[in-house]
Amino acid sequence: MSDTIERIKCLIVGSGPAGYTAAIYAARADLKPVMYTGMQMGGQLTTTTEVDNYPGYPKGTDGTAMMDDFKNQAERFGTEVRFGMVTKVNFSNEVGGIHKVTVDESKEIEAETVIISTGATAKYLGLESEQRLIGGGVSACATCDGFFYKGQDVIVVGAGDTAAEEATYLANICKSVTMLVRRDEMRASKAMQHRVKKTENIKVLFNTELDEVIGDNVVDAVRVVNNQTQEKHEISVTGVFIAIGHKPNTELFKGVLDMNETGYLITKGKSTKTNLPGVFAAGDVQDHEYRQAVTAAGTGCMAALDSERYLGALL
Ligand code: NDP
Repeated sequence: MSDTIERIKCLIVGSGPAGYTAAIYAARADLKPVMYTGMQMGGQLTTTTEVDNYPGYPKGTDGTAMMDDFKNQAERFGTEVRFGMVTKVNFSNEVGGIHKVTVDESKEIEAETVIISTGATAKYLGLESEQRLIGGGVSACATCDGFFYKGQDVIVVGAGDTAAEEATYLANICKSVTMLVRRDEMRASKAMQHRVKKTENIKVLFNTELDEVIGDNVVDAVRVVNNQTQEKHEISVTGVFIAIGHKPNTELFKGVLDMNETGYLITKGKSTKTNLPGVFAAGDVQDHEYRQAVTAAGTGCMAALDSERYLGALL
């Protein structure tokens, strides 16, 4: 049930690098953006400790601190950042139409443009020890955290293209990489499998699953289980990279916006335009390929420019 209806020019849904960058640009273009942050304010980056690969931070920074910087910059130009979840959408399919959005199942917003930057969520196995040690040696992003395991032994769980890519990336930095593959073959493309095979310091254990991550505050080792023989053994490692896929946060848009078979929003050509006029998508929610803070920020900028141009063309 609606308690208030508010009419705005630009609604931004999600508060990762894409959302905040869209906010900075939209606010400076006088679109008076309102952002709803979602439950995880700051997005996926707040789950990593150090960020060393975002340009402009020569000494690196902490993921949470970086997202605070993004937020402060967006607010400096007048973005209204609100904590809340979009729970329902009723988008118009007409050029110049009004998009209706419900927040926290009560508040209604009518927006001339909507920028969706709800991101993606890395999948985890769900083991208690894995969850407890996220940030203490367990990570779902090799390009974010791999550097901290320089010269050390790590494992990668997964057998798709992401796992193969992360394993070869880590092999350049780490002393050894052990891949845990739950079946007797890998799902990754032949080309990626070939790269894995010819990398000397990657060892692949087939029919093997992660049984437990061992360590109190940091990872000391893992216990793995062969799912054919049920035999278990420990491997001494300091890093555990879970690479079993990501899930785009697009549940809300099913049947409304065009998405691919894995749920990523489809944008048109090099733009951030979705199939509905005035609705744009930026960041990981529309990108399963690069998934970096800097690429997300880039598409956030594009979404704000696309929104501005869309509104300009209506005048
Ligand atoms: P995928 O869904 O392709 O692969 C997930 C992998 O994780 C599978 O090997 C799966 O095993 C394994 N897995 C899932 N759950 C578990 C579990 N509970 N325990 C152990 N293993 C598990 O995800 P990706 O992120 O690898 O790729 C997503 C998409 O992005 C794909 O289309 C991929 O091709 C694409 N991509 C392309 C890249 C490129 O072209 N450079 C780079 C990265 C991704 P199983 O095989 O047994 O199901």
